[in-house]
Amino acid sequence: MSTDYDVVIVGGGPTGLAAAVYTGRALLKTLVLEKQTVGGQIALSAAIDNYPGFADGISGYEFAEAFLKHAQRFGAEVRIGIGANSITRNEDGSFIVGLGDGTQVTAKAVILAMGRHPRRLEVPGYDRLFGGGVSVCATCDGAFFRNVPVAVVGGGNSAVEEGHFLTRYASEIYSIHRRDHFTAQKILIEEYLHQPKVKPVWNSAVEEIYGEKEVEGIRIKHLPSGETQEFPVKAVFVFIGWIPNSELVKDLVETDADGRVIVNELMETKVPGLYAAGDLCVRPIYQLANVVADGVQAAVSVEKYLESKK
Ligand code: NAP
Repeated sequence: MSTDYDVVIVGGGPTGLAAAVYTGRALLKTLVLEKQTVGGQIALSAAIDNYPGFADGISGYEFAEAFLKHAQRFGAEVRIGIGANSITRNEDGSFIVGLGDGTQVTAKAVILAMGRHPRRLEVPGYDRLFGGGVSVCATCDGAFFRNVPVAVVGGGNSAVEEGHFLTRYASEIYSIHRRDHFTAQKILIEEYLHQPKVKPVWNSAVEEIYGEKEVEGIRIKHLPSGETQEFPVKAVFVFIGWIPNSELVKDLVETDADGRVIVNELMETKVPGLYAAGDLCVRPIYQLANVVADGVQAAVSVEKYLESKK
C-alpha cells in the first residue's frame, strides 16, 4: 500500500521536533502534528538554563522557534493546531492516523511524542477558580499578580523554578509543600530560599482555595498537628507533577501504572513501527537534554526499521 508519509510524529515539543530534524535529514517524508503550541510545555518556560551549549540561557519561546525552524529546514511538514485522534495499524504494518480536522493520513511508521500535562490539585476551588488566580504556569500568569501575595504548591524542580520566577512580581510567595524539604536540584533550592519574598510552609497541604470569582485565599492544614491556617493570597500556582498524554494509545502500547508508555532503549513500543519518546514514556530522568535525545533515538530507529523493510 502506498502511504502519504514515511513517518508521522505526534507532538511538536522538543522530542517530536528533534525526531523530525533527524527523519527529515534522513530524507524521510515527515509530518509533525502539534495540537497546541509548538515547543509544548517548554515554550512556556521563562528561561532554560540547563540545556548544554546555551551558556547565557535561552527563553522557552526562542528555543521552541529554533527547533521548529530546524525541523522545517530539513523538510518536515509541521501542522500546528491539529492533533491525532486515532492511530490504527493495518495488516501490512502501515498506520492510519486520524487527525483532529476529521481527515486521515497513512504512514509507514509513527513516533509518539505527546508529552504530559500538569496534575490537578484535588481540592475545592481548584476547578472553579482555574483561570481566576489558579494557574499551572508562572510565565503565563505571573505578571498579573504584581505586589500581591501568592502561593506555590509542590516541592520539585517545577515548583522551585516557577516559584523563583514569581519573585519578579509577587510581594510574598507562600511555598507550600507536604514534606519538610524541597526535592528539587540543590542549586535551585538554594537560589529559591535565598529570596526574601519566599516563605516556605512545610509539612502542609492545601485544603481549599476560596474566593467568589477570583482567588481570595487558601486554607492549609499543617499535617503533623492537624491545625489549619488561612493565607489571603490572590493566586495559587500549582506544580505537583504530571500525567502522561497516553490516552490515545492506551489500548495499543504497554504502559506502567501511571500511564507512562513503556519503551526499550531504541524507543520501540511492543508494536513494530510504533515508537514513543520523551516525557510520555517511562524515563530515568525528565530533563530537556534527554527527552531531545529520545526523539533523536526514535528517529534513527525509524530510519533503520524502514531500511530493513525494503
Ligand atoms: P515532580 O518532580 O514529580 O514533583 C512533584 C511535586 O509535587 C513533589 O514535591 C510532590 O511531593 C508534590 N506533589 C505531588 N502530588 C501532590 C499532591 N497531590 N498534593 C501536593 N503535592 C503533591 O514534578 P516536577 O517538579 O514538575 O518535575 C517533573 C520532572 O521534570 C522531574 O524529573 C524534574 O527533574 C523535571 N524538571 C526539570 C527542571 C530543570 O531541570 N530545570 C525543571 C522542571 C522540571 P512529594 O515529593 O511528597 O511526592
